[in-house]
Amino acid sequence: MHSMTLPAPEVDRPGLPPAADPHERDGRRPSTLPARPHPTRSSQHMPADPTTLEALRRVIADQIGPRSPGAIYQSEAGGRFEVLAVVLDPESARALLKRRGAQWALIVKDVLRPASDPVAIGTAWAKGDYLVREGREARPCGACSGKGGKTVDTSSDGVTRKHWQTCGICKGTGAAR
Ligand SMILES: [Zn+2]
Repeated sequence: MHSMTLPAPEVDRPGLPPAADPHERDGRRPSTLPARPHPTRSSQHMPADPTTLEALRRVIADQIGPRSPGAIYQSEAGGRFEVLAVVLDPESARALLKRRGAQWALIVKDVLRPASDPVAIGTAWAKGDYLVREGREARPCGACSGKGGKTVDTSSDGVTRKHWQTCGICKGTGAAR
């Protein structure tokens, strides 16, 4: 299980939109809640049922599975990836995955193609996936608060462009060294 604190979800709907995986069930529905003017630190203004929050955390934890930073896993599709960072901030996850309902994302590196750039994925842990190397539970990097980097917005001319900038201090692992 992951020890990082999960941010409060934006809305208190009972379920999570499914992660993009081959078994995706389209449980998405448009949010009927008005956009909040500012992100709030606590959920005081929008009290969510603790049971719902707990259920949400469990769903997220199940979807991420044992993929903590540093872990290497083999996916059932045949890829092999090293987990560089686990992004638990929904806003960052949405920007990374360009998907409105995303609650989390992983920054992974394809270890079979060492020259490739790290990519963000939102694919849920599947039964056929397995760990090749255990990750580590580490203190979060102070420079990026354990996020492993930040989303940089270079949008212009009506084109939305955001990319992930890996933290130079922890090299994207999100862990203090
Ligand atoms: Zn860092």
